[in-house]
Amino acid sequence: MPKLGFILICLIKTTQVFAYRLNTSNGASFGNSKIKFYVTSNSTCNNAGVDQNELLSITKEAVKKYWNTVSTSEIELKSGGIFQTSDSLFLTGELCPEQDGSTCGANNVPYVSKLLIACNSESSVNFPSDDFIAISAPTRLAGSRIRGSVILINDTATSPFANLSRAERVSVMAHEIGHAVGLGHSNKTEALMYFENADKITRLSQDDRDGISYLYPVSVDNCNGIFGGTSESGPGPFLPHFFTGLMLGFFFWRRNKRILKS
Ligand SMILES: [Zn+2]
Repeated sequence: MPKLGFILICLIKTTQVFAYRLNTSNGASFGNSKIKFYVTSNSTCNNAGVDQNELLSITKEAVKKYWNTVSTSEIELKSGGIFQTSDSLFLTGELCPEQDGSTCGANNVPYVSKLLIACNSESSVNFPSDDFIAISAPTRLAGSRIRGSVILINDTATSPFANLSRAERVSVMAHEIGHAVGLGHSNKTEALMYFENADKITRLSQDDRDGISYLYPVSVDNCNGIFGGTSESGPGPFLPHFFTGLMLGFFFWRRNKRILKS
């Protein structure tokens, strides 16, 4: 019977179907799983019904409630605070996801090397109707690495963001962050990354978890980069990990030996 159990588990595993999609054709992600987000200082967001500090607060809650909870992913989003700028193109420019700018005009939202959030009122390309609460895209790529992403909150005169509850705003922001860090839309209706009704999703689905874990997996060694991890502060202390591993290995070897004998 144990063998049957094993076979069943294998079958379930191998027939699992993922529905998540990636935002770029090459599955780009931020190289570092510790990602800071910023809100531009000139985002007054009058029509969206928030200010930059509230937007920052909403985003903090979004990462705490959604993406930072995934145990199978190393992603950790943190607030970088307010990004000081007087560039009005963050508020009025078109979002251009082209990495080299070759097909983007002069009136685009500026390229950034960070995850940036702004309120934006450009209505011909970004927000042609009230169906769009917010939009997001990686705007700067280098191969399979995202260098910068922008999230724009609809700040047009009839912004639907203004009519959302705080909890719904948090969910919408979490959905946009998913795009900004590399996830596309899922075709699972219960997923936060489903293409609509993100404001009604109160928790991540397994599909969301699978997607973010694919892009930002937990390091196998978990030794702060000694085998090629992505710790921002560089490799961690190797020797303490090594000797702890050695002692644990010895302990389990002794214990297994005893179990086998009995
Ligand atoms: Zn979306």
